[in-house]
Amino acid sequence: MWSKPYATTDPIIPVHAAATALQYAQQAFEGLKVYRTVDGKVSIFRPEMNARRMQQSAEAMYMAPVPTDLFIEACELAVRKNIDYLPPYETGATLYIRPILFGTTPKVGVSPAQEFEFCVVVTPIGPYFPAGFGTTPFIINRHVDRAAPLGTGQWKVGGNYASSFRATEPAHEQGMGVLFLDSEEHKYLDECGGANIFLVKDNTYVTPLSQSILPSIINDSLMTLCRDLGIRVEQRKIPVAELGTFQEAASCGTGAAISPISRIIDPDNGTIYEYGNEAGKICQRLYQAIRDIQYARVPDTHGWCHYMAAQ
Ligand code: PLP
Repeated sequence: MWSKPYATTDPIIPVHAAATALQYAQQAFEGLKVYRTVDGKVSIFRPEMNARRMQQSAEAMYMAPVPTDLFIEACELAVRKNIDYLPPYETGATLYIRPILFGTTPKVGVSPAQEFEFCVVVTPIGPYFPAGFGTTPFIINRHVDRAAPLGTGQWKVGGNYASSFRATEPAHEQGMGVLFLDSEEHKYLDECGGANIFLVKDNTYVTPLSQSILPSIINDSLMTLCRDLGIRVEQRKIPVAELGTFQEAASCGTGAAISPISRIIDPDNGTIYEYGNEAGKICQRLYQAIRDIQYARVPDTHGWCHYMAAQ
């Protein structure tokens, strides 16, 4: 039984030292964005998808799922209370919503909690590309797996991220992102540390099918937009050996929507797959299409914008 959500300005959450969240990483989180649209409205992008994904993460972590209505009510409350921090339309900046769910029951014996806390924090974030579409190099890592074949990769749980820092941090220090491979054979593309990947050839959008990647809401949206725009979509296993055949590559997720990849480096054999230092044509078309919907510059034919009452 969940209590009614309430607002607080206190960012400190008192948690028992033996809470299962701290002891056993019994935790899940989400990330979504609020946009001030071109006509001055306040729109959250597809929050019911994040609610559903958090319910799946909760079930996987043996936690009580947060009902969709409560999830959206709490997000709206946090946005309403912080509406002064929602950046204006022209800035390209947004308000980021971070819902968190965790086990609070103190347990020294290894077992799940009976009580859970769900909270939502928000923070304004600047535009991902302040000066045009930038590109980023990526490096394949075969020595750290983000997720085990039957592990937790498909859920948004903190442990997946903590365990991949040892791959992502050294790469970030060199200005690169990490491309993880399937952990069973290290033969197929999985995903990036915090985003899905897609590649393009011959008017076809190709994105990995894998049990251990997080189902990205932006990737799902882009696949729908591809169908609108007459771009073919393939969701299938992508062997590393196929990388040389693509014309464009990009990571996709809530942060940047689309972040074009300049090159993918395979350090184990010295191969470099080049995709150019500028966003490709299909990346540009998709970026324009999704941003136009998020900022309500075009009709929202898929019903993705969740408008809040006048703010
Ligand atoms: N993959 C991982 C591991 C992520 O952390 C994220 C970010 O949430 C994504 C993919 C992209 O998902 P979304 O498009 O829902 O933001």
